Amino acid sequence: MMSHCCATKNPSTTDSPCDILIIGGGIVGAGIAREAALRGLNVILAEKGDFASGTSGTSSRLLHGGLRYLGQGRIGLVWEASEEKVTLGRIAPHLAKPLPFLFPSYSGSTWPRWKLAIGVKVYDLLCSGKNFGKSEPMSRDQMLDAAPGLTLSKLNGGVRYFDGFTQDARLVIDTLRSAVAAGARIHNYTEVIGTGPTTNDQNRWELQIRCGQCNRQSTIVARSIVNAAGPWATTFGHSEIKLRLTKGVHLVVPANRLPVTAAIVMPEGDRILFAIPWGERTIIGTTDTDFTGNPDDVRCTPEDRDYLLRIVNRYFPAANLRPADVRSSWAGLRPLIAPSGTVKANAPSDISRSHKILMPELGWFDVAGGKLTTYRIIGEQAVDRVIEHLRNTGYQPEIRASETAHRPLLRPESTDGISSVLPPEISREAVDHYCRAEWARHLTDIMVRRTSWVYYLDNHRQVARQVAEWMADSLNWSHEHTADEVANYEKLSDTLESLSPDA
Ligand SMILES: Cc1cc2nc3c(=O)[nH]c(=O)nc-3n(C[C@H](O)[C@H](O)[C@H](O)COP(=O)(O)OP(=O)(O)OC[C@H]3O[C@@H](n4cnc5c(N)ncnc54)[C@H](O)[C@@H]3O)c2cc1C
Repeated sequence: MMSHCCATKNPSTTDSPCDILIIGGGIVGAGIAREAALRGLNVILAEKGDFASGTSGTSSRLLHGGLRYLGQGRIGLVWEASEEKVTLGRIAPHLAKPLPFLFPSYSGSTWPRWKLAIGVKVYDLLCSGKNFGKSEPMSRDQMLDAAPGLTLSKLNGGVRYFDGFTQDARLVIDTLRSAVAAGARIHNYTEVIGTGPTTNDQNRWELQIRCGQCNRQSTIVARSIVNAAGPWATTFGHSEIKLRLTKGVHLVVPANRLPVTAAIVMPEGDRILFAIPWGERTIIGTTDTDFTGNPDDVRCTPEDRDYLLRIVNRYFPAANLRPADVRSSWAGLRPLIAPSGTVKANAPSDISRSHKILMPELGWFDVAGGKLTTYRIIGEQAVDRVIEHLRNTGYQPEIRASETAHRPLLRPESTDGISSVLPPEISREAVDHYCRAEWARHLTDIMVRRTSWVYYLDNHRQVARQVAEWMADSLNWSHEHTADEVANYEKLSDTLESLSPDA
């Protein structure tokens, strides 16, 4: 069911509570919504901003097992993520494109060639032999042919291996479209502002929501709550999840300033950074630094930019990238599960990327951590826990077996020209579709998350003005409203293009 402003008009009541209320429309919330709806549960999802406006729209866009985690001995994590990456290739081929990676090896580095050669073989095996491509060791000359411009000093070869490339925000939106087709009710610009069990029935929860469009408030009654609020998960009194937030930024530069046909791995101590080909652009990422500020205000600073450019220029000295080459940027927060005990003991890059599902109070679930890649299995496990709880309360809904690992996300005809790892062609038809069928309410919803045009196009400001006109027709905006939307977009673009220090 497609529903616009607002969720408050048709809330679930004590007489007919929903089975599961999900807080957060990032990839974790979307995956849970899809899983729950397909299992036969009555689902509502509330997202305070636009879908994927949190971490899930600011990732490195990789579907990966995590070669780096293999080096940390986290075999279980790599195996789980590798299986899921292959699953996503099966259920969402339009958003899971095979991407070759070149991992150069330098004498004296912590990533010697022999170790890499063994590592990538194990990596392929952990995908049950179904990786997107077969890994292979490479000689120095082969590496130079494949990655012209790579620094020669101490280079002694390397390896090629495969992962997947996606468009993170599109993965969220398409997962939600799939959830809605299965009966879920989802609402963006709907903030959960208060939570508590109902006084007359301890198996029911009441949540106060506020519609960001009309500012109206109302109450939703639910048999269970799933807190999938990512970096904001700890803001609810009922939550017991402990997070450590780390910031990661990405830069976008023209492909002709850093031409790469495969993703290039750039080791920096124990960390690895990437230069990722993206059509006419190259994406450079990422940083990993502790963040203690307001999650609503995370941005790429000049220091972040300079750090990334310094490393790229070390690996590609001839490119000599300058701040002026940076066309755009994005910054996000990893909601990592805080290690128990001495929380600050580990470096950010050492903290596990595994997920956690807690039930600190009956019917309240915290679901956090994990990766974009593992969102489907997180959803499956979370919904299993919710169903177990519902049955324990004596409620026996008819439940179907999980089919999310096999059922295609969407049919190809509903994604063609609309959803891909590369931005779609600019067209009125696409814009109308995003307004009509993908909950686009603001200009930024389309320019940033539905299409990535803001990051990709040199003339995106001009395009935004055209898109605003089309949206105005589609959504009945006044001249004043259209002008406000354009002004907000300009403000956002300024932030993404000319970086300023953290607030
Ligand atoms: C820099 C970076 C690079 C990454 N790269 C990769 C990668 O390449 N591959 C990979 O697999 N993973 C990657 N990850 C990890 C992955 O992106 C995250 O694990 C995942 O996106 C987290 O999703 P989430 O749904 O938990 O959080 P979010 O996407 O942040 O979703 C939480 C949502 O809850 C909403 N919310 C908060 N409070 C409320 C409220 N009161 N009411 C309603 N809604 C609310 C927020 O607005 C937000 O949209 C990366 C992460 C970062 C930061």
